[in-house]
Amino acid sequence: MKTHSTKQALAAALSGERRDGRTVGFVPTMGALHAGHVSLLERARADNDVVVASIFVNPLQFGPSDDFARYPRDLEADAALAAEAGVDHLFAPEVAEMYPRGSIATRVDVGPIGDVGEGAWRPGFFAGVATVCCKLFHIVGPDRAYFGQKDAQQLAVIRQLVADLDLPVEIVGCPTVREHDGLALSSRNAYLEQEARRAAPALAAALMAARDAAAGGEGSAAELRWIVEACLEAEPGIHLQYVDLFDPVTFSPQERLDGRGVLAAAAYVGGTRLIDNVEVVATVSAVQQRELAAEPATGAGAGIERGAAVHAGAGMKRGAA
Ligand code: AMP
Repeated sequence: MKTHSTKQALAAALSGERRDGRTVGFVPTMGALHAGHVSLLERARADNDVVVASIFVNPLQFGPSDDFARYPRDLEADAALAAEAGVDHLFAPEVAEMYPRGSIATRVDVGPIGDVGEGAWRPGFFAGVATVCCKLFHIVGPDRAYFGQKDAQQLAVIRQLVADLDLPVEIVGCPTVREHDGLALSSRNAYLEQEARRAAPALAAALMAARDAAAGGEGSAAELRWIVEACLEAEPGIHLQYVDLFDPVTFSPQERLDGRGVLAAAAYVGGTRLIDNVEVVATVSAVQQRELAAEPATGAGAGIERGAAVHAGAGMKRGAA
């Protein structure tokens, strides 16, 4: 594996590969690599002749009170992991290489998808992500680029970016890799101290409880939110910031589950902000049940027993998050 810190060096290395007609798979990351990143690298390795990974902590996507300065960085360990996963070229530029004038004036405007979910809490975040990915796609020129479902809204933003701007790259989404206790792997998990690490899996467990309820027939976003809130009420170590049901493609917030959706949440565990999401799927029978429930004579039978969620959350206020 070769590590490149400049665009020119990477371009020179890749031009030979392209001349030979080899396909290029690309995995953009911010480093502090873990098994979630490795799953993307391995998928890229399996699909392509050449694998390029980037490590760049992109200041454009951090707000003034975000953790840009203290974001974990360990290029040596990352390079070893990337080489082991079969990466051919690692692009690890300094900020000055990507933003020679300190920053850049041009931003990709991602539209309404950037204002909901994560975007509602992190203004400008998705513009920063889309802008740096646009730059990286131009620098690397990959045939395929790999993104994790762990950041489902980011994946939707990137798919929209590529479609809207006709970028010649195929976007491949990869499943979320989790710890044995359900916690989604994240570079930010390194911030978790012992008590926070103990509490953290409750976020995934709450989302999965709501996912199961959806599979069992619950189609109301308010009820699914309530199930997550109620589960987390039992875990004082977690403060839920938001949980919402989104369309998996447009990420527009949904009031009812219609087919497939993404239930996404952010929570503070200790001082660390974690995000997670699950795909929720309404079973055909659940949709049929709802249709039947819409008819007055059978209305009482639809959905799961709401009492279960109310019971679990006894004593908490609705919408407390
Ligand atoms: P990051 O370094 O956090 O910017 O992540 C780089 C890529 O790895 C993104 O496409 C993420 O969605 C993906 N990723 C991060 N964590 C996981 C995980 N637990 N499972 C799968 N992919 C992940």
